[in-house]
Amino acid sequence: MSEAPARSRLIVLAGPTAVGKGTVAACVRDQHPDIWISVSVTTRPARPGEIDGVHYHFISDEEFDRLVAEDGLLEWAVVHSAARYGTPRAPVEEHLAAGRPALLEIDLQGARQVRKTMPEALMCFLAPPSFEELERRLVGRGTEGPEERERRLRTARTELAAEAEFDVTIVNTDVQTACDELVDLFRSGTSRVSS
Ligand code: 5GP
Repeated sequence: MSEAPARSRLIVLAGPTAVGKGTVAACVRDQHPDIWISVSVTTRPARPGEIDGVHYHFISDEEFDRLVAEDGLLEWAVVHSAARYGTPRAPVEEHLAAGRPALLEIDLQGARQVRKTMPEALMCFLAPPSFEELERRLVGRGTEGPEERERRLRTARTELAAEAEFDVTIVNTDVQTACDELVDLFRSGTSRVSS
């Protein structure tokens, strides 16, 4: 963003699995370094190419337990019945206190928790153009086996139904457009919402 945002805010980006939340967030990271993006902790192992501290903080179950016990997470959830993911609280609070726009890219369960604890957060739902397209993206990504893919698609169907709980929807037909729309939200709190 070349100009200062009208007001700093916290935006929560959620949406179904494989909709492209990570890709849109990466686009924001590359093009808008003034927007801080939270790095989550997770108990799942790193995928090839993922860097500890950049994509996630990869931690053990014991470390995760400790963070929960210390109230060190703003939200956390078990995702796809597989691993735990959470947002470290302190960095979010520090960046917001410093007036820096902050973005959380998290799952639906986590988004619901943030909506309760930080009602000032703007809740943004990233939607696929269609369920068929979502399925195509999940298969194309090739990071999950058939069983895991089926499980994630089942989760995705439930997640799609949650759109109405959100303040705004961005349809991820094109990554750059979705990224631009998301960045607009930091400035205006409204968007050229695509649905
Ligand atoms: P993946 O394992 O594919 O990187 O992520 C799986 C899911 O976990 C995605 O839907 C992603 O948005 C979600 N996720 C990532 N970080 C967090 C987090 O800190 N909290 C919650 N609740 N979900 C997260």
